[in-house]
Amino acid sequence: MLCPFCNNSETKVVDSRDTNDGKITRRRRECLRCNARFSTYEEVEILRLTVLKKDGRKEDYDKTKIEKGIKRALEKRPISSERVSKVIGDIEYDIQAAEKPEITTREIGKIVLKKLRELDEIAYVRFASVYKSFGSIESFKKELDTFDK
Ligand SMILES: [Zn+2]
Repeated sequence: MLCPFCNNSETKVVDSRDTNDGKITRRRRECLRCNARFSTYEEVEILRLTVLKKDGRKEDYDKTKIEKGIKRALEKRPISSERVSKVIGDIEYDIQAAEKPEITTREIGKIVLKKLRELDEIAYVRFASVYKSFGSIESFKKELDTFDK
């Protein structure tokens, strides 16, 4: 994705939303060199993504499952719905960026955790405790300790 102003290839996504029944994603991008902002309209290529589960079963990628998990983690947290939508968009973007036909639940979990951690620590811990199903109090504490850096 080249910046239309200076042709730099490094841009970041600042906003992302579906249009046209979710088949096209509109992204707001910012050029990392000249800071110009522009929109792109990208076809969603994620439709055929397969998720490989821990027990070896496969299922079609389902965005709504991720949305549900994130919304549950963010319940009653002081985070605006715009920011929630943005973080979901960012997560989707990272999942697509892998450009693979298959992704494991572990990989998805890692992406979600990374983004939630940037957004809200409480939501991060909530999601982590469900997702990682910590084997012991010790391993959960260890995870919490990684905040202190
Ligand atoms: Zn530029």
